[in-house]
Amino acid sequence: MLRYCKNCSLLLPHDADRCPQCGAPAPLAVRPAAQPGPAAPLYGTPDDREAEPMAEAMSQGATTGTMILFAIPVVGFILALVWSFGGTHNEARKRLARAQVVRTLVVAAAAALLVLVAALVFSAVVHSQLAYYYATPYYR
Ligand SMILES: [Zn+2]
Repeated sequence: MLRYCKNCSLLLPHDADRCPQCGAPAPLAVRPAAQPGPAAPLYGTPDDREAEPMAEAMSQGATTGTMILFAIPVVGFILALVWSFGGTHNEARKRLARAQVVRTLVVAAAAALLVLVAALVFSAVVHSQLAYYYATPYYR
């Protein structure tokens, strides 16, 4: 956009903040950024961040060691339960333990569902007339 000096009416360079001829302050340029646009999204106020201090992260080695412990079939799940219900003062380990408990429960539920479906299918096949028909070929 073109701007002119209010003092001497000289055409000003677009990036000038003062008139090059008389030194008068140039009128403010209307910048696209200054126009009202969509407000930047707020991801919590600084107060929120201060209210819940970040848990101190465990080292990579400690995290890996914890995950290896969790991988032990029964002991790992017990450890995860103990740690997720306050068995540790390490906030990061507690979160890791809670995630592990949730993962274990989800996997256990999926496995139980699979076993149930398999049992139902097996039962249906065993008790069906078709199975009886094929299972007793010599007595027909
Ligand atoms: Zn001027």
